[in-house]
Amino acid sequence: MNYQRPKGTNDILPTDSPKWQFVEETARLLFGDYQFSEIRTPMFEHIEVISRSVGDTSDIVTKEMYDFHDKGDRHITLRPEGTAPIVRSFIENKLYGPEFPKPYKVYYMGPMFRYERPQKGRLRQFHQIGVEVFGSKNPATDVETMAMALDFFDQLGIKGLRLVINSLGDQETRQAYRQALIDYLVPFEEELSADSKRRLHENPLRVLDSKDKKDKVIVADAPQILDYLSEEARHHFEQVTAMLDALEIKYEIDSNMVRGLDYYTHTIFEIMCDSKTLGTQSTVCAGGRYDNLIEEFGGEPTPGFGFGMGVERVLMILDAEGAAIPTVDTIDAYVVHLGEETNIEALKVVQAIRQAGYSADRDYMGRKAKAQFKSADKAKAKLVLTLGESELEAGVIKVKNMATRTEVEYALETVYTDFNQIFDEMSQSAE
Ligand code: ATP
Ligand code: MG
Repeated sequence: MNYQRPKGTNDILPTDSPKWQFVEETARLLFGDYQFSEIRTPMFEHIEVISRSVGDTSDIVTKEMYDFHDKGDRHITLRPEGTAPIVRSFIENKLYGPEFPKPYKVYYMGPMFRYERPQKGRLRQFHQIGVEVFGSKNPATDVETMAMALDFFDQLGIKGLRLVINSLGDQETRQAYRQALIDYLVPFEEELSADSKRRLHENPLRVLDSKDKKDKVIVADAPQILDYLSEEARHHFEQVTAMLDALEIKYEIDSNMVRGLDYYTHTIFEIMCDSKTLGTQSTVCAGGRYDNLIEEFGGEPTPGFGFGMGVERVLMILDAEGAAIPTVDTIDAYVVHLGEETNIEALKVVQAIRQAGYSADRDYMGRKAKAQFKSADKAKAKLVLTLGESELEAGVIKVKNMATRTEVEYALETVYTDFNQIFDEMSQSAE
């Protein structure tokens, strides 16, 4: 019997949810300003949707999938990332049609699932906020989308992040580079880690991404993909850097950066945090261009650009920087009621206040006046309404401004007909 949460998952408790809401709300507002709309796709997909796009030899597909056969014997997987499902949806719903804006821009937020070894900043159910842009080849799309990611961190008050970019070029680039890389690596084959040995022939670019120390030394002197860019790919990359310069956005170029997903072409980028906050996981946001993915899925050739960021990692940085999270931690009114007989009336009063558009709470535990006032204080109530048996009989209610301690008696009826008036009068007495 195991009544604990599964390994690598978290409960997001009410003490933490204001931070989540702040991050999500910031994204919604900012992405809205950039004219992105929200898309929500299912939490699970047919496995081909993922294996086809992310790549059969990628870690995600070979090791990290949460897949299963459902009762109808369909091979299903929980989604490990957002891009493939959205590309599937883009084609299935014909979002490339003439009635839709071009480029077509969407954002998403939600849980992703990967069977990984849980550690700091690495979970089995984690959350991503991400965006996709379909239909623009313009390098301005690459730059604007990266700028939006940086704006997002800026709005959260997070500083000291680094933008790192590279280009993986087009098919022509990849073919030329792949051969050069194999030629360079083969003499080291016996020294490479087991994973890299396998990757050398399956997908040599991935060897550049190895976390193994010995591999890293070997890879350090490997040929650089930037020296193999085709004419077109070089032009695209030059435009990207020129536009980053034009916006005065600082960036670094890392020619060994390849990313873990197979579908990227041209620009790829990561936003990294160097402080110890994230432990060994320093990437908080990652993405790039994927100009062939939609065609590979059977859609009309359509270029794409997107990124995904790990919300848990964003929150770890926010916490470490002690960023101020805006929260509402007061309520407009608290209803203190005394004696059994006032129970129904207290219910009516608290509901009337809420229906008038104010936040309100009351006592449910039949506690003494002192304890109820303590609750009102703790909830930072602006007004406390007190209803005892004698008030009920007289058809009145006492209203106290907790800041000024002024107390006024109102006809109970006024709470029902015009709580607005009570609130305005009593709040004014605070000045
Ligand atoms: P990593 O190299 O850290 O495994 P990745 O290349 O697998 O990252 P992507 O698939 O590009 O990552 O996902 C984008 C972002 O999602 C990452 O930069 C990270 O912030 C977050 N992320 C990825 N996997 C996890 C995980 N298991 N737990 C928490 N966050 C994650
Ligand atoms: Mg990974």
